[in-house]
Amino acid sequence: MTPGRFTRLAPLEEARGHVVGGAPIGTSPGSALPALRTAAVEVRELVRASGAPSGVATRDLVTQPHPTVYGLFRAARSPAPWLWLTDRMLVVCWQDGGRTRTLVWGPSDHELDDTPAMRRMRDRLPVPSRFVRTVHGTVLGQLRALGIDPRDVDHVVFDHLHTQDLRRLLGTTGPAADLDCPTRVDPWFPNATLLVQRAEWESVRQPHPLQSPWYRPESYVDLPEERIDVLDGDRLLGPGVALVCTPGHTLGNQSLVLHTDAGVQVVSGNGILAEAWAPASSDLPGLQQHTNEAGPAPHAPGRAHSARSRAALARHRPVSRLIGHRVEQS
Ligand SMILES: [Zn+2]
Repeated sequence: MTPGRFTRLAPLEEARGHVVGGAPIGTSPGSALPALRTAAVEVRELVRASGAPSGVATRDLVTQPHPTVYGLFRAARSPAPWLWLTDRMLVVCWQDGGRTRTLVWGPSDHELDDTPAMRRMRDRLPVPSRFVRTVHGTVLGQLRALGIDPRDVDHVVFDHLHTQDLRRLLGTTGPAADLDCPTRVDPWFPNATLLVQRAEWESVRQPHPLQSPWYRPESYVDLPEERIDVLDGDRLLGPGVALVCTPGHTLGNQSLVLHTDAGVQVVSGNGILAEAWAPASSDLPGLQQHTNEAGPAPHAPGRAHSARSRAALARHRPVSRLIGHRVEQS
């Protein structure tokens, strides 16, 4: 790992009040919000001004049912308790001093997603999961379809590490009996590092009991340390490519920020569809009704702005492919 290799993006870090030696700006999530909103615009402009990646592609990996509350919380009106989420992988390339850097975002090894939480979810299904689960492709298969050699991948990045088993991606230094590897696991990406926020990395190694069903700490024991690039905050990785901390779902959650032809876009596992950020303008009846009942949050787009927001949503739908998960209503 090479600390300081990436450019620090300061505005949101300062607004969170996390700067060592600096006066805390927000003492509660509510009071920090105005500063965060201002800082988000500053980060957007910094990413825009830094240039643009040379290529972005999205590929579906797997579609499978999850409990409705995971995606729509209390807004779901359907009596069916499931919604189908599609895990998507993004490939981002940029130029760096005459060579191409390649980042793969969300390359879930879905053949190994065997955490206790996923097992419990599958056990609750009324039919065997293979009947309701659609595999669109493997990580390596989808990369090959894009003409990318796994040896050319520089960075492997996830928004957070729930259910992720990284052994085949990064290789191991020891045996893995469950993978039929008596000495070590050979990596799919022999030249890549994992970019992970420190809080996430520490959570994986020693999860809180409430989080532990989503992790498999034993699968992290023999990962090669030199392949783990632990980050402390927001970083500009390359022209128009950044990682920004978005804690909430997990403390070390992060989002990918990309300067695209459609503007600066954020890829976040915290939102399953564009409406997550403008629910009052959604065409989904449950979301609309829930927002009307709960009332719009201060400064959020309310019904008075719904026509404008609906136009914005329509504009963003073509690029909603960039969102890490896609939802289909149950
Ligand atoms: Zn999660």
